Amino acid sequence: MGAAVDLRTYVRDIPDFPKPGILFKDITPLLSNPEAFAASIDQFAQRFQGRGVNLIAAAEARGFIFGAPLAIRMNVGFVPIRKPGKLPFATIAAEYQLEYGVDKLEVHTDAFGPGRRVLLIDDVLATGGTMRACRELVESTGATVIASAFLIELGFLGGRARLEPCEVVSLITY
Ligand code: AMP
Repeated sequence: MGAAVDLRTYVRDIPDFPKPGILFKDITPLLSNPEAFAASIDQFAQRFQGRGVNLIAAAEARGFIFGAPLAIRMNVGFVPIRKPGKLPFATIAAEYQLEYGVDKLEVHTDAFGPGRRVLLIDDVLATGGTMRACRELVESTGATVIASAFLIELGFLGGRARLEPCEVVSLITY
């Protein structure tokens, strides 16, 4: 059933947000529709079932929206990757470039570790900077990133090339 839903019809374009020249992909119509939201989680789960994933990790805030339900669906743990100063235990950090700014992400030092097979997920692949930082964090602990998954890929920004040869899966490509 989930595969029959055309997810694209639930993504709204907002021009010039958060600043001029950015065409923002607004996923709130998809999130507010239970069939479409469930279908997106179904489609991710189908792609990664049987791949030996132990953990799903995602960067705040919109990565959490997809990462947490997918972790429950796939019966694996979830790791939050957070903005600086939010995590209470010892952390490691990576800096990254956004389509509109520079930022830093942190994760607990004990979140991953050697032998763990991690699936990274986010709502939008733009330049790929955020996901690269997430991958650095995971790999610096000795864990393996099996793939990076996105609801939406903005193909014209070339983010995929910054992530390959690591597998990149997108449910919708523009
Ligand atoms: P990037 O690091 O350039 O791949 O940017 C990806 C992150 O920024 C994702 O977490 C998205 O939530 C957000 N983002 C970047 N560009 C857009 C856009 N055009 N529409 C919606 N979200 C975006």
